[in-house]
Amino acid sequence: MRTGIFGGTFNPIHNGHIKLACAYRSELNLDRMLVIPTRIPPHKVSTELADGKDRLQMCRLAFAGQPEFEVSDIELCRTEPSYTVDTLEALHARWPEDELFLLTGSDMFLTLTEWRRWERLFELAVMCVGEREPNLFGRLQTYGRYLESLGARCRVIDIDPVQVSSTEVRERIHLGLPIDRLVPPAVAAYIAERQLYHGST
Ligand code: ATP
Repeated sequence: MRTGIFGGTFNPIHNGHIKLACAYRSELNLDRMLVIPTRIPPHKVSTELADGKDRLQMCRLAFAGQPEFEVSDIELCRTEPSYTVDTLEALHARWPEDELFLLTGSDMFLTLTEWRRWERLFELAVMCVGEREPNLFGRLQTYGRYLESLGARCRVIDIDPVQVSSTEVRERIHLGLPIDRLVPPAVAAYIAERQLYHGST
């Protein structure tokens, strides 16, 4: 199977994440998509960060009815800080026959050589990136070629980005502005019901 791995804080998940994940799935012909909310080390937890269970549930709501998307608690369940390479090792051990594709946004992709054990990361998965801001495609291709010279396999996907961030969603909630166009309706309803991100910053 061709398995895509899409990790993020997802605080909360928004339409930019969803569009990117769907574009990857179709462009790369992925059979299985794992969406993995990351565990945040306790010292980085802030009032702005929703509980892992809430972030997980919002991801589940966002991909409900799409069986090829599986939302995984593999990182949230860990007690130690988790690195992407550890997650990929675990998934490789679970599905040794699978080809793994690590799906990132451009901001993450451009820092890949700073990631822990990046050489091993490059062995375990194909590094994939889609544009987050417009007009980055050329820069991503150049950086992809640089990573390939270091041993990586890369795929740069040409997508029409949705310019939204979780920060913007949280800010709008603070300001009492609607978020309906930024997140799926079920996620907006969950945020309202649980009063997430409504406290002071
Ligand atoms: P925050 O605003 O809190 O920093 P974020 O919107 O960047 O959050 P993350 O959960 O940190 O969201 O992102 C997870 C992954 O999704 C990262 O690889 C990031 O680059 C990518 N991503 C986030 N927003 C977009 C977007 N609008 N378009 C494409 N990729 C995105």
